[in-house]
Amino acid sequence: MPDALWAGSAPDATAANAGVWAEIIGQQAVVAQLQRAVAAAHRLSGAHQEQDMTHAWLLAGPPGSGRSTSALAFAAALQCADSGCGQCRSCRLVLSGAHPDVELVIPTSVAYRADEIRGLVEQAQMMPALGSWLIIIIEDADRLNDASANALLKALEEPTPHTVWMLCAPSAADVLPTIASRTRQLTLRTPPMELVVDVVCRRYNVPAEAAELAARASQGHIGRARVLATDPQARARRQDVLAIPGELVSLPACFAAARRLVDTAQADADAVCAPLDAADEEALAAAFGDGAEGKGIGTLASRSRSESARLRKAQESRARRVLRDQFDRVLADLTGFYRDVLMLQAGSGSAAFNPDVAARTAALASASTMQETVARLSVLREAGVRLRTNAAPLLVFESALVGLWRPGTTAPAARGTVPA
Ligand SMILES: [Zn+2]
Repeated sequence: MPDALWAGSAPDATAANAGVWAEIIGQQAVVAQLQRAVAAAHRLSGAHQEQDMTHAWLLAGPPGSGRSTSALAFAAALQCADSGCGQCRSCRLVLSGAHPDVELVIPTSVAYRADEIRGLVEQAQMMPALGSWLIIIIEDADRLNDASANALLKALEEPTPHTVWMLCAPSAADVLPTIASRTRQLTLRTPPMELVVDVVCRRYNVPAEAAELAARASQGHIGRARVLATDPQARARRQDVLAIPGELVSLPACFAAARRLVDTAQADADAVCAPLDAADEEALAAAFGDGAEGKGIGTLASRSRSESARLRKAQESRARRVLRDQFDRVLADLTGFYRDVLMLQAGSGSAAFNPDVAARTAALASASTMQETVARLSVLREAGVRLRTNAAPLLVFESALVGLWRPGTTAPAARGTVPA
């Protein structure tokens, strides 16, 4: 079935793939629908009467399929006078997560709290500060529980004309039916490996072999593949992470590796955020300096103050998100490593995710049992869940690495999932 979607979809081939849409890979049907919505939205003057545009969207797709990227591109295109040129100040503010009218929300604990959602609903009543729309992107919408979903229902049923809600989740089935039924659903798929290789290769001018390795190592996650293919430091970080299974020979070694992982992730996150923070502040200052036509200077000054406060909040939220991405990356790299081990043990002929460390995965495959590998993969899954509940990262990684060293000893929750 996916073939029909990719048919005739050479990346970069048309204007449909330009501007803010360029980062969305292998999702032609979704992009076409979003572009129709943007065109309809630009014909509207505040009222939702165009069929192609609606006020509540659900972008569903597995991690790496680009659901947040798609939501941000859609938001940028709605705000941009040129339907998502990718170059203007508005586009840049949206894509960097600093546009005052585009709120990107991630849950701060295992489920969204009702008061958190009520705050957003209240915010949705305000008029946009710079753009034509007030856009609220809710990531991990599968973590809306009955109470927080209830707080959102009314806003979805009786939307403010200028507000657009975009919900992101792994699949529509993961979202409460009361919520899902009030949204227009778009389904994204993990792009096929060949397409990821092709895009990385051509767009970033990377030799085919390196693009292939990056696409495999990232398990088809396009954003990660791009970083691996183009950033030597990211490749070095991956090698550090893939060395960890070999270092876990004692309790102190596990603790030392956990400490190193967490410190490195924090340093990397800081390095990502610092230049973005500086650029946002500059862009926002410019936006309020140049956009003063027809508005009272006093109003503008007070708006500017409230926007800087909002920007600080957005920056803190971005810092949390970037750090979370760093931890996700570590877990994904380790998971790919142990999946390779499992495939060897199971005698599966599938291509390895990490062909460059094949000797190490082969050694571990013969030195351990399949059941141990399954338990190790459970330990990593469990660590991902615990990080999302905001458990202290160092404790989570200490416990995970001890669990990888001696599977089954410190992760009782994982034991039950090991098949007999
Ligand atoms: Zn633009």
